[in-house]
Amino acid sequence: MRLNGRQFARYSRHLLMDDIGVDGQHRLFNSHVLVVGMGGLGCPVTLYLAAAGIGRLSICDADIVAESNLHRQILYRDADCGRLKVDCARRALKDVNPDLMVDTHAEPVSAEILSGDYQLVLDCSDNLAARSLLNHHCRARRLPLISASATGWEGQLMAFDFERQQSPCFNCSIDPSSPEGRADCDTQGVVGPVLGVIGSQQATMAMAMLLGYGHPHGQLQRYDGKAGQWMNFKLQANPNCDLCAPFRRC
Ligand SMILES: [Zn+2]
Repeated sequence: MRLNGRQFARYSRHLLMDDIGVDGQHRLFNSHVLVVGMGGLGCPVTLYLAAAGIGRLSICDADIVAESNLHRQILYRDADCGRLKVDCARRALKDVNPDLMVDTHAEPVSAEILSGDYQLVLDCSDNLAARSLLNHHCRARRLPLISASATGWEGQLMAFDFERQQSPCFNCSIDPSSPEGRADCDTQGVVGPVLGVIGSQQATMAMAMLLGYGHPHGQLQRYDGKAGQWMNFKLQANPNCDLCAPFRRC
């Protein structure tokens, strides 16, 4: 399959790169990514993926746009207040790239939504229940998952390659009873550009994974926006994790 003249112009900066080129651009065209949560992380993630030529995005969020969202959720405009986020996001993303296919789910993520045909799932959600559901289904279906979050001046992300039986999972990494485990930006506040940093990193990792390049799976990457520092930690698989320990014993 060949690129047309318009596509050559649009994606010329990818085509100039030996490790993307025409073949890589086709891989992006043929990719289908599920993005759960169209808030402060989902906005920059989907903007970059739409611009990059990802063929199909499924976006999932039950919320409507509120005025308190606008300092960080960069897809939405003042006039969007009171409208469904997924509808506003779809319009904005199609404005960026009319070739993009966008499926919208104006409901909380569910097993039915997760049964779709995705190459990658991006967790941009704001609650532990959704994160745990994504972890469980991606682990069971061996779907790659990139989970991200941010509060205050700090953000973090983790990539899980569940093709690897030895991979830890999100459940290994968090203590649900801890204040950190329950934190979200509605109750703690967040600096808008920190979400842009983490969302951009999440989109970068997504592109690398879709293009078949190595990625730091099983690592926690943490960003401190006030100090301007990144820190990486190796995630340890919890030998007692009820989700992934049984797979590792196989
Ligand atoms: Zn686990």
